[in-house]
Parts: sequence; C-alpha cells; structure tokens
Amino acid sequence: MERECSVQTVGIIGAGIMGSGIAQTVASKGMDVILTDISLENAEKGKAGIAKGLSRLVAKEKMTQADADALLARITPAGDYSALSGCDLVIEAATEREDIKAKIFEAAGKVLKDGAIMVSNTSSIPITRMAAQSPDPTRFCGMHFFNPVPVMGLVEVIPGLATSPDTTSRVKAFGEKLGKTVVLAGDAPGFVVNRILCPLLNEAIFVLGEGLASVEDIDAGMRLGANHPMGPLTLADFVGLDTLYEIMKVFQATTGDPKYRPAPLLQKYVEAGWYGRKTGKGFYDYSGEKPVPSQ
Ligand code: NAD
Repeated sequence: MERECSVQTVGIIGAGIMGSGIAQTVASKGMDVILTDISLENAEKGKAGIAKGLSRLVAKEKMTQADADALLARITPAGDYSALSGCDLVIEAATEREDIKAKIFEAAGKVLKDGAIMVSNTSSIPITRMAAQSPDPTRFCGMHFFNPVPVMGLVEVIPGLATSPDTTSRVKAFGEKLGKTVVLAGDAPGFVVNRILCPLLNEAIFVLGEGLASVEDIDAGMRLGANHPMGPLTLADFVGLDTLYEIMKVFQATTGDPKYRPAPLLQKYVEAGWYGRKTGKGFYDYSGEKPVPSQ
C-alpha cells in the first residue's frame, strides 16, 4: 500500500561523509534535521562541510544564496542524544562498527518518542542482528544511502525479521519523499548493491597488491574496458578504505566464506591511516590540485 510520508523532524547520528550528505538531502526537502556526532564540535564540523558544499553550488549558480541559507537553517547540530527526543525518524550513520552502533541504539533508544522509527545506514551489518539491540525491533529498519547522497538516486530499504510492515512502508515513503528510487533488499550482508560492489573493489586491491597493474591502469581498465564511470581504486578512496575494510570483515565473519577476506594491501593502507579522500591519501594522494597515485 502506498502511503504519505508524515516525517517532519529527522535525527541523524554521525556527521561524517554520509550523515552530512543525508542531512543536506533531508533539509533540502523542507524537513528539520538534528545532526549529532560524538561531540557538538564534530556535529558543527559536519554542518560546516555542508555549508562549504552549498557555497560551491551558489557560486556555480545552481542554487540561490537564499535557498542555501534556508536549507542550513533547518539543520541544528547537537552534542547529545536528548536533542533527538522530538524526532519522527532517527538515522544512524556512524562508523561501520557493530560495537559502536550497538551502544548508539541503546543510548538513543532511551530518548526516542513513541512511534518514532530508527534506521541504520550500515553498509554491511545484518539488520536483524542490530534490531535485536534496539529498543523496539518492530520499528527498526535498514536504510542504505549512496555516496554522495544529494546526487545518488538510490536508497535500499532493508526490513529485518522483526520489522513491522508499517515501519517498512513508512521508511519507503520517507525515501520517496527524499526524491530517491527505493528498492527493497533482503537482510544479508551487503544487501544487494554492496554485496556485488564491495567484492569488486576488494578484488581490484588484490590485483594491485599482486603487482599485475598500476593504480592508474587498473582504474583505466575498468573505466574503458567495463564502461564504469569511475575506476575501482578511485571509488574505494571515495567510499573510505577504513569503511571498505570493515565491510569486507563483516562479509567474511557473517558468511564464513573466505572469498570475502579483505585484500592484505587494503589492511595495510588502513593500518597506515591512509583511508582515501577523507584523510587526503589512499590509493591516490589528494594534497595537490589533481589526485596522483600515492605509490
Ligand atoms: P565517516 O567516517 O565519514 O563518519 C562516521 C562518523 O560517525 C564520524 O563523524 C564519527 O565521529 C561518528 N561517530 C563515531 N562514533 C559515534 C558515536 N558513538 N555517536 C555518534 N557519532 C559517532 O563514515 P561514513 O562514510 O559517513 O559512514 C557512516 C556509515 O554509513 C557507516 O555505517 C558506513 O558503512 C555507511 N555508508 C557509507 C558509505 C560510503 O560510501 N562512505 C555509503 C553508504 C553507507
């Protein structure tokens, strides 16, 4: 059954790449956003990043200054979860670690108002397992956005075993209100898109680690030979190598299938703190005007 979306105020936990992108998208559709992170300072940093992106759109005349100001005014950074008590829907978009997310569900769950829905933007962790740690598994669901959120057209909605049909249809209606195409996906590690995409990125890193081709040639190969808009190593840097590493570990641990083991070179980059774009260095170095291979 199709339904109208009644969500007015959205809480977001985690103001990194995804949380900021989701906040911008939600506010652009006229809803209010409470943006939280581990500290008020981090949440404010997330909002400042959104402001910077919007000022680029204004400079390119893709948005008016008045619209950018109105969008930003709808986003309120907050330092603790009590600010989420008035939210109709709360989106968890924190670091891809189950222990971190479990603590968030427990703490934020205590302040949610009656009937509020909690969703996780996890890339890989089973929804049913996380729902069991949330205050009400019937009102818990997966909602997987894609990066950059304001640009990408898809959202995967992943009901867990206990998610009620009413919750699923409300989350679906919310995704549609954001202007996204919503696809329903089953609750298995990586759902649909990441189940296919992340092993591909990981395999490209195996190819690099085995010395079969250079960073640039692997990317050119997949751009020109498979018609992908972006090479896999460029995309891995964009996703965040720490996030990709955690995703592959969840795939491997949850399925027990060794085909999902993270590439040793991926682990090495993560251990070096080379997480990709967000740290300025991954398979490419982003310190200059144009990215150049870092090795
Ligand atoms: P990120 O590293 O850019 O941001 C994570 C944010 O979570 C950081 O700001 C961190 O301070 C915050 N955080 C950590 N612990 C917290 C806590 N206890 N409470 C509140 N905030 C906390 O990571 P990201 O790329 O934005 O990923 C966030 C989530 O979105 C992950 O689950 C990831 O798998 C998922 N995701 C990522 C992508 C992508 O392409 N990067 C795409 C889809 C989904």
